[in-house]
Amino acid sequence: MKGIVLLGAPGAGKGTQAKLIASRYALPHISTGDILRSNIKNGTELGSLAKSFIDEGKLVPDEVVVAIVKDRLAQPDCKEGFLLDGFPRTTEQAKALASFATVTHAIDIEVDADEVVKRIAGRRMCACGESYHISTHPSAVCDKCGGALYQRDDDKEETVANRLRVYFDQTAPLIDYYRSAGVLFKVNGMQSVDEVFGEIKEVLDGND
Ligand code: AMP
Repeated sequence: MKGIVLLGAPGAGKGTQAKLIASRYALPHISTGDILRSNIKNGTELGSLAKSFIDEGKLVPDEVVVAIVKDRLAQPDCKEGFLLDGFPRTTEQAKALASFATVTHAIDIEVDADEVVKRIAGRRMCACGESYHISTHPSAVCDKCGGALYQRDDDKEETVANRLRVYFDQTAPLIDYYRSAGVLFKVNGMQSVDEVFGEIKEVLDGND
């Protein structure tokens, strides 16, 4: 049973690696960012609450995201394990998670701050969830579905600074939290997608 959480700054490559991990290890990929964005798109009450925080680069309140994750992890497809991407983001969320699930691997994807800014500024998305980059993975339309590419509102410069501040203040302390719990694994995120995934596979295959 694998209970994986992915740590790392915005733009570290969590979403990209999460897709590869979920497919290789047949785990449900649970991205709180994706769940919130789909609620915004569908005009739900949760979506309109979340939007005000996301647009400012702030975190959605702990109790809101904890309830989403608790509910999702109770679904039958999470019985054999799960992969969380973008959760937990605060120590409170990590403590809540520990009360209803077991984390076996907290994988921290380490990337320099300068690199993160470059990656986020150039990131382009498709509504299907694929992500691109204007210089490292350029495309006119989505390779997977032909959809139009766009920039996430919260990837615009004015919001990115706030998201990075929030990351260093509130999320980076989770590295120590999971180190103390004995489940922290660091990988070097300053490499190609395949090389980063290679390190992650070593972590996951070596600890069954
Ligand atoms: P992401 O796609 O993971 O970068 O998330 C985008 C935005 O959604 C974040 O900047 C937060 O505003 C919100 N969000 C996603 N996950 C969480 C979380 N675990 N706790 C609080 N806010 C979150």
